[in-house]
Amino acid sequence: MTYDYLIVGSGLFGATFARLATDSGKRCLVIDKRSHVGGNVYCEDVEGIHVHQYGPHIFHTSDKKVWAFVNRFVEFNRFTLMTVANYKGRLFNLPFNMNTFYGMWGVRTPEEAHAMIEAQRGEIKDITNLEEQAISLVGRDIYEALIKGYTEKQWGRSCKDLPSFIIRRLPVRYTFDNNYFNDTYQGIPIGGYNVLIDKLLEGVEVKTDIDFFDGLESQWRSLADTLVFTGKIDDFYHHRFGELQYRSLRFEHEVLHTPNYQGIAIMNFTDRETPYTRIVEHKHFEMMGSEVNNLPMTVISREYPQAYLPGYEAYYPVNDDSNSRLYAQYQALAEQEEHVIFGGRLAEYKYYDMDDTIARAMACWDDNKKIATKP
Ligand code: FAD
Repeated sequence: MTYDYLIVGSGLFGATFARLATDSGKRCLVIDKRSHVGGNVYCEDVEGIHVHQYGPHIFHTSDKKVWAFVNRFVEFNRFTLMTVANYKGRLFNLPFNMNTFYGMWGVRTPEEAHAMIEAQRGEIKDITNLEEQAISLVGRDIYEALIKGYTEKQWGRSCKDLPSFIIRRLPVRYTFDNNYFNDTYQGIPIGGYNVLIDKLLEGVEVKTDIDFFDGLESQWRSLADTLVFTGKIDDFYHHRFGELQYRSLRFEHEVLHTPNYQGIAIMNFTDRETPYTRIVEHKHFEMMGSEVNNLPMTVISREYPQAYLPGYEAYYPVNDDSNSRLYAQYQALAEQEEHVIFGGRLAEYKYYDMDDTIARAMACWDDNKKIATKP
């Protein structure tokens, strides 16, 4: 065997696994069907600005081990996600907090905000869909202005036809705190995510523009003892039981000759009529006063949700009952495999944040190491 591991996919799962295996003296080959490494955290350099090509990525975690791991490779800035919602030209702070409630109703104290939400959620008796779930959590006004249109655009269906489990919980804070995440650590890698990925893959053999399923599957497999597969699990089994469903996204990137377009990294457009859900202005992921932030131009990306069709990027798994049942069938096959590790958001058909993905790769590596060193 030429390699110990053939790793299909150079996203955070594949790159983390490759780093850990290489550091333990194992030989790895990483292949990726895209023309670049990094999977969905890849950034394109446009006019000196790191453009998050597959959607805005903010690193946040409370996992000390994961935080220490990523800090071995790259330093993080102190970016803190605070989002603004634009509802028909009116601006509200997100996530829902005292600033939002003040903007919506003019209430000034947590008690007044509580009373307002309580009065509005009282209308709902039984919860049978997402609309009722949302109203019961935050009241009708916030639902109508900040949740309904955004969610309907995101899922392509009426909130009345969406299952309530999608928003089992909504972050509601009775403090004047616009920070989106509750995690202990948060930031953006200085120099962008490509720095992190390049360091994870340093000294690892990598081949891009190679689709594992392009007719040479068995040749690729014969190169290594163990296959680490981070692509779609239903692709791996050639859709034997059917195709898993996803939601997809389309991004429209634009260079604008203005130093500051919207004054914030992410603005959500929560009405139903605006066809996109958000605009990302990438330079605001960098700190004020930094070289990138001072550039005279800016790059924005409009994000359009769309149905997933063959050939599109698979972004979000649709974890409803029928897809969960289908995934369970594939998972049962995967559990029988002796020399294949399935990991990451596509192979496990699960929404993972970046820190979850890294933690999963670390756990898979630890498990595999134990098996490999068993007498
Ligand atoms: P991927 O990054 O998708 O990597 C899989 C790789 O496998 C890809 O490069 C793909 O080309 C390759 N591949 C697939 N099939 C084949 C094949 N047949 N042959 C060869 N190569 C193949 N997380 C956060 O923590 N914070 C955020 O702010 C955040 N924002 C997000 C925004 C969006 C829009 C989305 C969709 C996700 C976001 N995430 C965020 C989650 C984050 O993107 C994932 O946790 C992470 O990218 C998962 O890494 P992965 O390696 O599992 O998958």
